[in-house]
Amino acid sequence: MTATTVPAPAAPTAPTAVRVDLGLYPDIQRFGATDISACFSCGTCSATCPMSQTDGTFPRRIIRYAQLGMKDALLGSKELWACYQCGECAETCPTQADPSEFMAATRRYAIASYDRTRLARTMYTRPIVATVLAVVVALFLAAFMYAAHGPMDGETLAIFEWIPSELIHSMGIVVMILVVLAGLVGIGTMARDIARREGESPRSTLGSRAALARTGRALWSAIGRESLGQVRFREECESDAVAMTVPWYRRRWLVHALVVWGFLGLLAATGLDYGLALLGIKETGTPVPLWYPVRLLGTIAGAALVYGATVLIIDRYRATGRSVKVSTTADWLLLALLWVTAVTGFAIELALYLPSAPVWGYWLFLVHVAVAMELVLLAPFMKLAHAVYRPVALFYVALAREPQGDPT
Ligand code: SF4
Ligand code: SF4
Repeated sequence: MTATTVPAPAAPTAPTAVRVDLGLYPDIQRFGATDISACFSCGTCSATCPMSQTDGTFPRRIIRYAQLGMKDALLGSKELWACYQCGECAETCPTQADPSEFMAATRRYAIASYDRTRLARTMYTRPIVATVLAVVVALFLAAFMYAAHGPMDGETLAIFEWIPSELIHSMGIVVMILVVLAGLVGIGTMARDIARREGESPRSTLGSRAALARTGRALWSAIGRESLGQVRFREECESDAVAMTVPWYRRRWLVHALVVWGFLGLLAATGLDYGLALLGIKETGTPVPLWYPVRLLGTIAGAALVYGATVLIIDRYRATGRSVKVSTTADWLLLALLWVTAVTGFAIELALYLPSAPVWGYWLFLVHVAVAMELVLLAPFMKLAHAVYRPVALFYVALAREPQGDPT
């Protein structure tokens, strides 16, 4: 294990009244939290947690917030997102309170609390409704596209003649606008809550050259090193025992990283393809060789996503590791959407190389586009939202390592 990365909380600048919400803990339990009433704050989990060697209060402090109904403190805790659910604390808790699963449930609760539409709350707390909704949204998107379908060429797989690329692009733009709007509201709420607790302000983060440099370093740490590079996940969140017994291609950080890189790679390939069409360089759907850069990016990213999502599904099904002991509908829903998106994308590529155009290639294309769009559309309301919330919290974790006004 290497040095700790969760800094001590910032000293409060002025005494503030604490709002107590007695319904907080029962509400978190609706998101799957285990019974932590037995927790007597012994601190064993904090001593075990690889993220908590400096201040020694994490994750115990988050549990206390929930027990005492300190909702504002809990939702404004950047440390909540520093946990990568390694499960080590659950092994050592003398009361079997399972702090690891509690932290996961609290993050689900936080995502639902940042979302003003309450859709995220429904997705997390009503599994049957969430599943039906996911199916209905996919069917609706597919039916909407099918209503505008053109001829089905039997000789070459002309998927963008069957479902016009203009329609797909227009739907994609509407989906992105909705997602960005919903995401910005959630991120803004979260950032405001954390910044308030941390004593950060526009002035402390943007108000001078030194502040801008500090913000730049924190952004690099949160996005470059930790989210894209998975540095802390890799270095701190897997015990030496796990590192020695699990083969490198099944290591948790790598599988997670492949899903992240694969998803982002596919998004980038889709965006680039659209950009090339806008610039008149390549029309969407024009046949290109495998080594064509955008296609190559999409193929590699798709392979990473198929592998990562498949391993995650197998691990969750077997429930062997500590981190996948408990799986919720939200976990399965996200994995299912990721897997279907990636696998159908590959099957379509295969179909493109076949001598004649198989009918199933067209239908798979419809499924692929509908599910991929749904994945993006529902992202702010599902577990995928953590891909944005975690970097925001880690940004504040990185800021806290550098005192305000300290240019070094
Ligand atoms: S180890 Fe268990 S009982 Fe002790 S503080 Fe952590 S959750 Fe509570
Ligand atoms: S699951 Fe791991 S990272 Fe999270 S609180 Fe427990 S020991 Fe720490």
